[in-house]
Amino acid sequence: MTIMIRGDNIGNLALELLKDCDYGCSGCSVNTTGVTPYTEDDLHALRDVVDDVRERGWEMSWMEFAPVDVMSASNRTDVLTHPIIRDLVTGFKSVVFNCSFLNPKADAYVEFAKELDAFMPGLNVEFLVPVELKHHRNVAYLEKLRGRIAWLNQHLETVTIASVTAIVNMTESMLDNGLINEEVLYATRHIELFEKSDTTTFVFHYGRRDLSVKEDRDEFLRAILKQNQTFANQVDAGYEFTVDDLSAHVGADYHLAYRNGDLYIAPFINSPIAVFHPDFKFEKPWTLDSIQRSDQDTFFESITRASQSNDCSGCRFVSKCATRGVHRVQRLLETDRCLSILGKLGHKCNW
Ligand code: SF4
Ligand code: SF4
Repeated sequence: MTIMIRGDNIGNLALELLKDCDYGCSGCSVNTTGVTPYTEDDLHALRDVVDDVRERGWEMSWMEFAPVDVMSASNRTDVLTHPIIRDLVTGFKSVVFNCSFLNPKADAYVEFAKELDAFMPGLNVEFLVPVELKHHRNVAYLEKLRGRIAWLNQHLETVTIASVTAIVNMTESMLDNGLINEEVLYATRHIELFEKSDTTTFVFHYGRRDLSVKEDRDEFLRAILKQNQTFANQVDAGYEFTVDDLSAHVGADYHLAYRNGDLYIAPFINSPIAVFHPDFKFEKPWTLDSIQRSDQDTFFESITRASQSNDCSGCRFVSKCATRGVHRVQRLLETDRCLSILGKLGHKCNW
């Protein structure tokens, strides 16, 4: 069987191993206590997949430690000193942490810098920093975060901070109440917290709900449609934007996520969305070949489904959405409506 190659960067891996969070950011629906311990067998299997990627001459882009604030995670030290996890990170170009930088204690950052230097010597670290929407223009608040990031940076010896990117939780009620509208989207586009930062990411948490429940699936659908409409309004209102601001140009690579003993592939709807539902799960044993084969089967299934759908048949983004897993989300949500901003941008998007 021919295996589909998606480019030199084969993908990313989110390890949802950290648990407990000291904070309560608005719009957060992460189950902060719900991570169960990983097994050594699973870590070995994940390392074998990463080794296989390297042996074939490809690269993994980034490994993310999710889903909670790393500095308040109660098992942070266990995770960052585990020998297999320490070995695993060396297979990636950079390591990503969710870190709120809300801890006011200066010593905590000195300690964290030491742990990072021991965990991933000489590697690049990236931080995703949750910023509550109400603070996006709060100069004093943002200045405090910048000061703590600079303080951590000052104490890192071999690890380099490659980027710090703000993330904002997106919910249906925020969209309904106009808290996230086209003006706010534009204003929050660049929240500079460090000299190197990417476009602010809006985090869509609905894939973390219990998607066996119809109400949760319906909410997911309503929220994604409202989000895309808000993005489209931004374009119609004439705000300057690039397509990458609304839907990152990447997305052809695999976004894998390990949580509670299972390995999932995250669909990419404007950005990667964690969807912890059996439809997105890989059966064991996990190998690069089995992941690629399963992905290829899904791709062809998606193309077939799209050809029978009112919105998708004839759309020029069918192959991109099939690669990104958008049609699998349509199947889960029992809809054939367009779920991607690409469909709304249409001819305005000249990829
Ligand atoms: S967004 Fe992150 S830091 Fe904030 S409460 Fe949720 S898990 Fe904690
Ligand atoms: S952009 Fe929308 S209509 Fe086009 S293939 Fe993707 S989901 Fe379907």
